[in-house]
Amino acid sequence: MIDVKQLKEAVRQEIARRQDELVALSLKIHSNPEIAFQEEKAAAWLSELLEASGFRLERGICQIPTAFRAVYGSGDPKIAFLAEYDALPGMGHACGHNIIGTASTAAGIAAKIAAEVTGGTVVVIGTPAEEVSGGKVYMADRGAFEDLDCAMLVHPGNRNAVMSYSLACIELDVEYFGRGSHAAAKPEEGVNALDAMLLGFQGIGLLRQQLRESARVHGIITDGGQAVNVIPQRTAASLLVRSDDDDYLEELRGKVLACFQAGAEATGCRLEHRWGDASRYKAMRTNTALARAFEANLRALGRVVEEQESRRSMGSTDMGNVSAIVPAIHPTIAIAPAHVPIHTDEFRECAASEEGQRGLLDAAMAMAMTAVDLLSDPAILQSARQEFEQP
Ligand SMILES: [Zn+2]
Ligand SMILES: [Zn+2]
Repeated sequence: MIDVKQLKEAVRQEIARRQDELVALSLKIHSNPEIAFQEEKAAAWLSELLEASGFRLERGICQIPTAFRAVYGSGDPKIAFLAEYDALPGMGHACGHNIIGTASTAAGIAAKIAAEVTGGTVVVIGTPAEEVSGGKVYMADRGAFEDLDCAMLVHPGNRNAVMSYSLACIELDVEYFGRGSHAAAKPEEGVNALDAMLLGFQGIGLLRQQLRESARVHGIITDGGQAVNVIPQRTAASLLVRSDDDDYLEELRGKVLACFQAGAEATGCRLEHRWGDASRYKAMRTNTALARAFEANLRALGRVVEEQESRRSMGSTDMGNVSAIVPAIHPTIAIAPAHVPIHTDEFRECAASEEGQRGLLDAAMAMAMTAVDLLSDPAILQSARQEFEQP
């Protein structure tokens, strides 16, 4: 007979016992920020700790040198904690991934105690480049999450919330080619690539009136011409198109492209475009069976969890692609005041603050306690799976 209460107490104590070591590791990652795919130190430090704790390590999985997989135990179920550890270019750990990486590693090490009693497998997967590139998009395509029963990570933020919403997202690059000419002496000879671009953007501005509320289209002009006295011969722009619905995103692609085609038609420019298929993010599907289990554990730690969660999304995350493969959750834990958003200098300071350290330990404990639930009661994973199978 498995004593769930006692096991939860044991995993909590394991994290409490390692508290100083975990906080020091999180701060070390924080003060050594490494951007997408260059997270050599963070990946090494986290995987070394896992290896020293008895996990079998596979480094450089999915042809990504800074990705890893650490496994403890055998058989079903397979519970995965995903570790992120990349920083933002020029901003350091302003998204607090030092906390995510350390919390997921700690949760794995503590959950090992449960797996020793219940059987089953605990997996910690190092997933680089969440910012900028979407490392999990590639890892998902390369089969990294196929054999799991569930996956979780806790993201630091300015509130405690278990349901997370993120938008499906795809990148679009457009380029117009016209004909250059002296803007004052021979304007009639020119074919103005900037006019085409402005029409494209205006079309999108008008299109927004007819889009669903959760849709987002935003972009920048990366080449608007070279000299004021020359009719621009080439212009270029980069956009992101987002929706909370993977199917609607497909529909949006056509609408957005039509705006740019109209710019080409009106001006006589040639349009070239490229969809960034490789970096396509899927919408996050939070699994409510897992979310409820996690929520109960977070509350048991004394955290006040948002009751009426707004559906307001945090943007897009590559965890969405994981949630399309296995039942997954991506809860948020408060480490910053409500007015401080992620990706700011203030948030970076919070990620190294005492509040950040409390968030790290609570996130690790709540995840490890959730693993105890999942390892000892197969019914939870069964209903998570049933929910996942529903269209
Ligand atoms: Zn971020
Ligand atoms: Zn983040």
